[in-house]
Amino acid sequence: MTPRPLLLMALLGAACTTSAFAKNDLEAINRIRNEGLYHSQVMTTLQHLTDRIGPRLTGSPEMQQASAWTAEQLKAWGLSNVHLEGFEFGRGWSYDSAHAQLLHPRKAPLKGLPVAWTPGSDGVIEGEVVFLDAVTEAELEKYRGKIAGKIVLLSEPEDIGEPSSEIFKRYSSDDLGKMKSLDLKRPASHAHGAPDSIAQGRKQLAFREAVGAFLKQENAKAALYRSSRDGGLIRVFGHDHRAGKTFPVPALILSSEHYQLLQRLIEKGETPRIALDIDARFHDGDSQSYNTIAEIPGTDKNPEIVMIGAHLDSWHASTGGVDNAAGVAVTMEAMRILKQLDIKPKRTIRIGLWSGEEQGLYGSRAYVEQHLATRPKPTDPAERDLTPWYWSSPGWPITTKPDYDRFSVYFNMDNGSGRFRGIYTEGNVAVKSLFSEWFSPLSDLSEGTINANATGGTDHESFDNVGLPGFQFVQDPLDYMPRLHHTHVDSFDHVLPDDMRQAAVVMATFAYEAAMAEKRVPRKPMPTAPSELEQQQEQEKARKRQRAKERKALSELPQ
Ligand SMILES: [Zn+2]
Repeated sequence: MTPRPLLLMALLGAACTTSAFAKNDLEAINRIRNEGLYHSQVMTTLQHLTDRIGPRLTGSPEMQQASAWTAEQLKAWGLSNVHLEGFEFGRGWSYDSAHAQLLHPRKAPLKGLPVAWTPGSDGVIEGEVVFLDAVTEAELEKYRGKIAGKIVLLSEPEDIGEPSSEIFKRYSSDDLGKMKSLDLKRPASHAHGAPDSIAQGRKQLAFREAVGAFLKQENAKAALYRSSRDGGLIRVFGHDHRAGKTFPVPALILSSEHYQLLQRLIEKGETPRIALDIDARFHDGDSQSYNTIAEIPGTDKNPEIVMIGAHLDSWHASTGGVDNAAGVAVTMEAMRILKQLDIKPKRTIRIGLWSGEEQGLYGSRAYVEQHLATRPKPTDPAERDLTPWYWSSPGWPITTKPDYDRFSVYFNMDNGSGRFRGIYTEGNVAVKSLFSEWFSPLSDLSEGTINANATGGTDHESFDNVGLPGFQFVQDPLDYMPRLHHTHVDSFDHVLPDDMRQAAVVMATFAYEAAMAEKRVPRKPMPTAPSELEQQQEQEKARKRQRAKERKALSELPQ
């Protein structure tokens, strides 16, 4: 158990500025709850971000508007040192409309959304649809001289099959119970991929570039992809956002059902024709994107830093309600609550609203590099060029900056709008009793499950990646992955207000406790470069996994 400031102050008989708050520790939690549960503004913030500003694709005019608005709002709530911090990103892109129509062998509307960072169609284009059945550069050659003026299907056809019976889920106590044990088969952290997933990522990116170059050389008119969700859900993604690497032809993601229709027609020997009209454009005025930063200054001399945050950018399919206006609204609300209650923290409480998360944690990584610690970029230029960056090998050594020693902890929210049922410890056992203690006055709101394992896919990884404590809460999954994640229905409607208020209270409480605790949050050992033996073992494991995959593919062939 970590001694509370209250005890320490009593022992020392100190009359410092924080003692009143330390003595009122649990009263402060009551005040946080009162403000967060019964005077909440979290849904007002959420609605402005989603309904009013709209989709917030990194680098787009709407994202710039969101960066400016969040800064203005945090300033209006009285936060200090509010500013935007830029980092190099690439091209901006936005679209106004996208239409697709089946013309032959019968007429029907088709539903689709453009792939981000692909050109508009410059008016209506028409063409015959063909399937580009290639997964290697050699296989592309079969189509040399055959696709000029055509619209190509690029996704693998796949039967939709039986729908999943579970769309909406809250964790049962059984689910939560299982999270308490360390799963030794899982990686200790997710900041960099395993060697085989890095290799796979490189292969995937290289092939995607080869396809783009081929379509351009062969004068194909447009490309179509299949949505990775069925039931009419259009789940989007983006091509390369960097200048000079842009995908050359307009590209649309069709609903799974409409994509499969085109596939089946081709298989039956028909020659389907479609029309497309995509109004999209690039914005090249500013190649930077921006993180919003604001704080409540700590009262200590040279105060340490506690951070909370979420990514402000979203995909363009909808208004990014659960991914991740929810996280932004909750972290902003936590700051509003703490400021409203005029809490004077010992440590500075800082908020970071990141950009570029969806393309590979760019904003939070830039923040860590600018303020906390750096790792050398790979020496191989092809590897250095990979996006997202965690597809490259981790660089050694980690070089720390002065704020590294002043940094306590970072708490992130980015798993939809589900309420906080606990927290992932990223394998940091030293925080278990501390976090349990912080959860204890919230036991009527959250089980406070201490998850022994690491979780990946969001901005706490940028901190964990350089050995700093960065955490993500365990959230009820709700319908995040089956229905909402990056799809055209991720809007305000699917964010649950009670869950949002609960999350804001937990977030504010954790920020407060971390800012008032006697010591900064304990750290894991600093990551160190793997020994030659460990590298060899990793490569051997990766080789075996690859062999097993190939063997399995062979054994599935008809005998
Ligand atoms: Zn997200």
